[in-house]
Amino acid sequence: MGEISVSTRERSDLVDITAQVEEQVAVSKIDDGICVIYVPHTTAAVCINENADPSVKSDINNILNGLIPEDPGYAHAEGNSDAHVKASIMGCSRVILIESGRLKLGTWQGIYFCEFDGPRSRKVIIKVLGS
Ligand code: ZN
Repeated sequence: MGEISVSTRERSDLVDITAQVEEQVAVSKIDDGICVIYVPHTTAAVCINENADPSVKSDINNILNGLIPEDPGYAHAEGNSDAHVKASIMGCSRVILIESGRLKLGTWQGIYFCEFDGPRSRKVIIKVLGS
């Protein structure tokens, strides 16, 4: 099982971790299987989407911020309920198929770590299974 460290710079941001995940798959020597990407945080998530045009990640971020505003009126006393809700919607894990030792991502797909309560030092757990 591997781990990726991510340092985020904004309160809310999507960070492309595709290359780091690919490196974990290469190190595993698994040729045919699956890669589980798991975020062990309650105010962060992981998603797969276009990483060719950077405006896609800023649109996702801006739409989430519009739907779920940072608001001191939420019940949760820590003041980061918006981040908990965004993390729940986006999800804390993804599974990607591995074929011929490589992630089976579409041409335009990349893997984003989703920060919703940064800036922070975060970790992403990677488990590669197969043969
Ligand atoms: Zn909280």
